[in-house]
Amino acid sequence: MSASNETLPIAVIGAGLAGLSCAQALLQAGHAVHVFDKSRGPSGRMSTRRAEDEAGPWQCDHGAQYFTARDPQFRAEVARWQQAGVAALWDARMASFDGTAWTTPATPLERFVGTPRMTSPAGWLVQSLQQAGDRALAQWQTTVQKLERHADGWAITSAEHGLHPQRYSAVLLAVPAPQAVPLLHPVAPTGAAVASSARMRGSWAVMVRCPAPLTLLWDGAFINTGPLRWVARDSSKPGRTAPAGTETWLLHASPEWSDAHIEDAADSVTATLLAAFEALGGPAPTQVQATAHRWRYADTEPALTLGYWRDADAQLGMCGDWISGGKVEGAWLSGQSLARAVAG
Ligand SMILES: Cc1cc2nc3c(=O)[nH]c(=O)nc-3n(C[C@H](O)[C@H](O)[C@H](O)COP(=O)(O)OP(=O)(O)OC[C@H]3O[C@@H](n4cnc5c(N)ncnc54)[C@H](O)[C@@H]3O)c2cc1C
Repeated sequence: MSASNETLPIAVIGAGLAGLSCAQALLQAGHAVHVFDKSRGPSGRMSTRRAEDEAGPWQCDHGAQYFTARDPQFRAEVARWQQAGVAALWDARMASFDGTAWTTPATPLERFVGTPRMTSPAGWLVQSLQQAGDRALAQWQTTVQKLERHADGWAITSAEHGLHPQRYSAVLLAVPAPQAVPLLHPVAPTGAAVASSARMRGSWAVMVRCPAPLTLLWDGAFINTGPLRWVARDSSKPGRTAPAGTETWLLHASPEWSDAHIEDAADSVTATLLAAFEALGGPAPTQVQATAHRWRYADTEPALTLGYWRDADAQLGMCGDWISGGKVEGAWLSGQSLARAVAG
């Protein structure tokens, strides 16, 4: 590629927290950035289901449940989100169960959530991109399938729009590792090998609408036995709404159980997880409405700690939770690190 290509925009594929963090930092460094995501909106695995049933409209965070902020840079970002009203502390009563006894986790931890839903910080980041005018573009329902390097810059092809006319100075992938592999394999086998080395695990989630509040004495519980790993009173998070008198709960299966049952039918997964919830003091399955969601790529075990990957000659890069210790905080930090490397 010629030096003049350096004035072209940079393409960021994936508008989860890593991609948006990266895009925002690149904009601040003076670059033009185009962000693409295959979904109908941003936020990736920081996800909230919104729907309606007989009782009325409901919502439930069915991906990331809360996030912690240890790094000073990320703490400052979360403080900006709190200031903007898109994140708040979740003062949850926590518990954990090992199969015989319930305990209360000893370490007090600040747990943050997006408000009024987990997608809100990403929505706010997209708004700040849009304030950059012509220098930023965010486009949804665009599944990038192919990257090609031409003399006039990188070209992308998506399932929905075919070959895009715009050329890019660099392409940065902010997608789960298994989804980066087929994109990078033809153009950067070294990067594809890094992504292939990350083992991402699945997770089944079941969103439960209860006709009345449950009398359980906790809002979030780690379950270290049976098919469940995590149970949360979604309605106890700040700013949540549910039809009057009702409560929404979220069940996550353990990674081991999820991987063993990833191809099972949603109905049978729902039945198993509701039965496990009832055994913990939850409602009778016949009294609730429940919706299952399958995450094929939920977390990485173990997450890589490279921070980001970049091929400076090829002008390609990768960021995301999977390469940066896992979790929401790792995703945001990874996006920042990659942007710093690209911006020099
Ligand atoms: C069930 C579950 C529970 C979790 N619990 C927690 C928790 O409690 N605390 C915590 O900190 N973290 C938790 N996490 C992890 C957290 O959600 C992630 O670490 C973080 O959201 C990852 O952000 P990311 O930007 O790296 O990736 P993602 O959020 O996955 O974003 C990647 C984006 O890329 C898009 N994409 C993929 N392929 C393409 C393509 N070809 N073209 C265009 N777009 C594409 C996707 O649509 C997606 O929007 C959980 C995740 C799950 C699924």
